[in-house]
Amino acid sequence: MSAAAGKEVYNFQAEITRLLHLLAHSLYESKEVALRELVSNASDALDKMRFVALTDASQRDGATLEIEIRRNEEGGELIIADNGVGMTHDEMIANLGTIAKSGSLEFLKGLTGDEKKDVSLIGQFGVGFYASFMIADKVRVRSRSYREKAGHEWVSDGSGSFSIEPVEAMERGTQVILHLKESAKELLDEHRLKRILKDYSGFVSHPIKMADAQI
Ligand code: ADP
Ligand code: MG
Repeated sequence: MSAAAGKEVYNFQAEITRLLHLLAHSLYESKEVALRELVSNASDALDKMRFVALTDASQRDGATLEIEIRRNEEGGELIIADNGVGMTHDEMIANLGTIAKSGSLEFLKGLTGDEKKDVSLIGQFGVGFYASFMIADKVRVRSRSYREKAGHEWVSDGSGSFSIEPVEAMERGTQVILHLKESAKELLDEHRLKRILKDYSGFVSHPIKMADAQI
């Protein structure tokens, strides 16, 4: 780790670096898988927040627990935001880079050496958050835990390391900001995006909003 003006840099766990390399360089790319993983993480975070609010009255603010998908066409970014439990500094480091989940380890164990075929298996293994790197060349995660007053921003281009630094003024929850690869820019098309999201909205028990309209 190195620190400069509040910014720290960490290396990914070796297995994760390997996974990210495969995801970023494979010809296989599933926009559906990547979005599904992010929406499901947002939904899990909302479930956790619902539970926290049930057991702790001071955490009830009356706001609807929801997922919001925003498009930044000019910047080529797609943003998946939720007002769920959020993550602390340490949780971001552990969850998004230093501890490989069993799904990603199983996936790596099963590789045959045929990259295209191998990577097409990721949907089955559930590599989770890392699937973002199939469609994005840079990912920023801004998050504030319900337990803390300040948030943090995690940034990576998927090549071996990530940085993390404090962000002031942030609402509770998480925003995953995907800087889309050229090949994934079609996700900025409102109709294409809505069609993909509609497919999952039936499985998610929280509202998914897009530009003020509910999916
Ligand atoms: P899994 O969902 O199977 O645990 P992921 O790779 O999808 O694996 O996510 C890793 C972890 O990162 C999650 O378990 C969760 O703790 C954290 N995380 C990811 N996205 C969010 C989010 N939107 N809000 C809060 N925590 C998150
Ligand atoms: Mg997940």
